[in-house]
Amino acid sequence: MDYDAIIIGCGHNGLVAAFYLARAGLRVLALEQAAKVGGAATTDEFVPGFHFSTCAHSFVLFHPQILDDMQLVERGLRVFQRDPVQFHPFADDQYLLTWNDPERTRESIARFSRHDADAYASYGDFWQRAAQLFDPYLLDSPPTLGEFLRAAEDTPNAAVAHTLVTGTRRQLLDEYFESPRVKASLGTTFDAGSTDNAGGLLYFAFAAALSTRLSERGLAGFPQGGMGAVTRLLRQAAENAGAEIRVATPVESVHVVNGSVRGVALVDGSVITARVVLSNADPRRTFVRLVAAEHLSASFQRSVRGLRLNAGYLKLHCATTGLPEWRAAPGDGPQHRANVRICESLDDIDQAWSAARTGRMPIAPVLGLVCPSVYDSSVAPVGRHTISIWVEYAPVGLPQGVWDERRDETTDALIAQVARYAPNFPDIVSDAYLHGPPEIEARAGITRGNMHHVDMTIDQMLGARPLPACAGYRTPLQGLYLCGSGCHPGGGVSGVPGYNAARTVVRDLNRPASLRPSPTAGGHKPFTTAEGSRGRSL
Ligand SMILES: Cc1cc2nc3c(=O)[nH]c(=O)nc-3n(C[C@H](O)[C@H](O)[C@H](O)COP(=O)(O)OP(=O)(O)OC[C@H]3O[C@@H](n4cnc5c(N)ncnc54)[C@H](O)[C@@H]3O)c2cc1C
Repeated sequence: MDYDAIIIGCGHNGLVAAFYLARAGLRVLALEQAAKVGGAATTDEFVPGFHFSTCAHSFVLFHPQILDDMQLVERGLRVFQRDPVQFHPFADDQYLLTWNDPERTRESIARFSRHDADAYASYGDFWQRAAQLFDPYLLDSPPTLGEFLRAAEDTPNAAVAHTLVTGTRRQLLDEYFESPRVKASLGTTFDAGSTDNAGGLLYFAFAAALSTRLSERGLAGFPQGGMGAVTRLLRQAAENAGAEIRVATPVESVHVVNGSVRGVALVDGSVITARVVLSNADPRRTFVRLVAAEHLSASFQRSVRGLRLNAGYLKLHCATTGLPEWRAAPGDGPQHRANVRICESLDDIDQAWSAARTGRMPIAPVLGLVCPSVYDSSVAPVGRHTISIWVEYAPVGLPQGVWDERRDETTDALIAQVARYAPNFPDIVSDAYLHGPPEIEARAGITRGNMHHVDMTIDQMLGARPLPACAGYRTPLQGLYLCGSGCHPGGGVSGVPGYNAARTVVRDLNRPASLRPSPTAGGHKPFTTAEGSRGRSL
C-alpha cells in the first residue's frame, strides 16, 4: 500500500483528521481538489486589498483540545473576541444590544420588557444545562436519541434534555419571554429552518457546548486574517506531524476491490492505494459521486437520496468606504463592533424559510452583518471596511442559469434592505460580491452549498447523523470512513468530526479485522483505551 490513510478533501476537518492520523504514526495523504486548503473555511480577496472569510467567518465552535493539540496559538493564531456580541436595530429605531456580560444584556432587554430581563438569567441557565448535556458526546461516538435521553433520566437536567429533543425554538422563546423583539433577537441564532422545526434546539446545544469552552479561553470571535488563517495553520500542523497534503488534486472515485476499499482513483486516471480512505466531502457527494453504486446496497442508496439538504444561505461580501450609519444608533459607538441582526420578528424567519423552501428569494430575509475590519486592520485598506452579510435563507433549488440572472437584483434588494436601517449603506458599498448556493458548491465542493453538509434536523443528528447506517464515522463500505461536517456533531468550524473520525480509524487499524465493529455499527460506544480510560486524546 502507498499509504495507511488517504483523506479526500482538505476542509478543516480533513486537516484535523490528517494531523491526528499522522501523529498516531500512520502514513497519511490528504488530497484537495481546490487550489488551496480550507473548503468552507478560507479567506479570499474578491476585491483587491479586501480579504473576506468566504463562507465561515465566526471562529466560535473550535474544540479547545484540538486547538491545543495542534498548537494553533503557538503557531500564531490570534482571535478578536467580539463585545458587544449582537446589535439588533428595529424598523422603529429601537435597538437591543447583547454583551458577553449577561448583566449588560439584561439591562438592554429591560428597555423592552422588565419581565424578559428577569427571565434572561433562567434562559441562560437552560443553555448552560443544555451545553452540559451535550458536552460529554463531543469527542466521542454519537449516542442515539434514546441513549441521550436515558443518560439524562433521573438527573436535574432531564427536562432540559426532553425540551432539546422535542421542543422548537418558538416554544422555548415563548416559554421564557413576552416581548416579540426580545424573541426575535434571541431567536435568530439557531440556523435550523423555521422556528417550528424540531432539532434546532439540539443543534444549538451543540453550539453552546463548544462556544462556551472557546469563550472561556477568550478565543471565540474573528480570527486575524479571516478563517483562511485558521486552515493555513491547521495545514502547517498536519504537515509538521508528517501528513502529506496535495492541493489541486481532485479525487474521481474511491477505489474498491472485492468489496473493500483499496485507495482512490484520481481524475487523471492514476490510482493511489491505502488501507483506509476518509472522505471529508459531504455524505451525498461521497456516496453518489465518489463511490460506484454497485458497492452500496439499494436500501442504503435510497437513504442517501433521502438525505435532507434543504437549508440554503447567501453571503453578500461588501467592500465599503466607511461604516453604516445606523438610524437606531447613529455615530460612533459599540454597535460597530457587534454582529448586526436584522429581523423584526420570529415570523420573518418563518416567512424566509417557507419562501426559500418553495424556490423563491424571501422578500425580507433575516440578515446578519459582520464587519471584521473593525477589529482586524489586516483585512482592508486603511479607512475601508469588509462587511459580510449572512442571509437566511435562500432557495437551493434554483438552476444555475436562473440564479445568475437573479444575482444583481438580489444584491440590490439586500443592500436596500440594510438601507432601511442604515440609509448611507448604498453609498458606502464600493464593491459587492454575492455568494449563493451554486458558488458555495463550486468553491467549497459542498452539495447544494449546504453549510452543515446535511441539514441539522432531529432525524439527522447524534447517532443518526448523517444516517443511522453510517453514523459513528464508519460506512457500510469496509475501509471507507466519513470525517466531515455531515457526521456527528455536525457543521461549523469545530474540528470535532475530523478528530472523532481519526480516532475511529486508529482504533480500527489497531485491532485485528475479525474484531472490528460491523461497518454499519452506529450508536454510542464508550471510548476505552488499553489503559481503560475514557475519552483520551489521540
Ligand atoms: C456560507 C457559510 C457560512 C458559514 N459560517 C460559519 C461560521 O461563521 N462559523 C462556523 O463555525 N461555521 C460556519 N459555516 C459552516 C462551516 O464553514 C462548515 O460546516 C465547515 O467549514 C465544513 O468543514 P468540513 O471540513 O467538514 O468540510 P468542507 O469545508 O466542506 O471541506 C470539504 C473539502 O473536500 C473537498 N472535496 C470535495 N470533493 C472532493 C474530491 N472529489 N476530491 C478532492 N477534494 C474534494 C472540498 O473541495 C473541500 O475542500 C458556514 C458555512 C457556509 C457555507
